[in-house]
Amino acid sequence: MPRDPDHPAVRSAPAPSPACGSDSFEDIWAGLEPAFRHCLELAWASARAGSLGIGCVITASAGETVATGRNRLFESDCGDDHLAGSPVAHAEMNALGKLRAGADHRELTLWTSLEPCLLCAGGIRLARVGRVCFLAADPLWNGMAEVLSSNPFGLAHGIKTSGPRPGELAGFAMLLPFHAWQFWAPGSDANQLWHAHSPALGDLAVQLAASHELVALAAAAAPVTEVIRELWGRLGAAVGTDPGDALA
Ligand SMILES: [Zn+2]
Repeated sequence: MPRDPDHPAVRSAPAPSPACGSDSFEDIWAGLEPAFRHCLELAWASARAGSLGIGCVITASAGETVATGRNRLFESDCGDDHLAGSPVAHAEMNALGKLRAGADHRELTLWTSLEPCLLCAGGIRLARVGRVCFLAADPLWNGMAEVLSSNPFGLAHGIKTSGPRPGELAGFAMLLPFHAWQFWAPGSDANQLWHAHSPALGDLAVQLAASHELVALAAAAAPVTEVIRELWGRLGAAVGTDPGDALA
């Protein structure tokens, strides 16, 4: 028997499930680990302050936060971190700087919005943190996290790494530093490498830098959830086009 589209039972039926890859922001945000949500909040705080837009959280085995840090490359105030305004004021370094030397950190997990660079990978090994999870690949330092398990000194500690993740939130994690490169140093070799890795996301960064849309959201102190929701459709289009391993 054909279904009557005007029948109340049909009109009140739930909408069809969204196609794969088109889940709502609310669902995907709610499903993200709290430490990664915190990383993105810190990343947006970093971007709002004019730095690169990268955040890091270290958690204990039960999930409680042990330390946080954010990128403060272009800031003079280090806030609750140790490093600001220097080339090494990275999110991971600022989080690792809050751990105590000599303590056993093998049960800790370091969460970061962007794949650790060589500097931070070394810091993770020296701190003897047991596990690293990152959202987006860093085109400049792609595979650096694997050095931790391919180098004999790193292998001896057995650091577990996880990432990059697919989807819009990884795209947003990459977009913030991408936008900073585009806004402050569009001709830099770093920006060129990022564009070669993720051209569609790079085009979005170019559009946002030209329109000052992210700058306006930063000036309005918009929460990170509002910013991601605003960009959701454009992030989805970009990560569905780019071949980069962070955006599969
Ligand atoms: Zn780093």
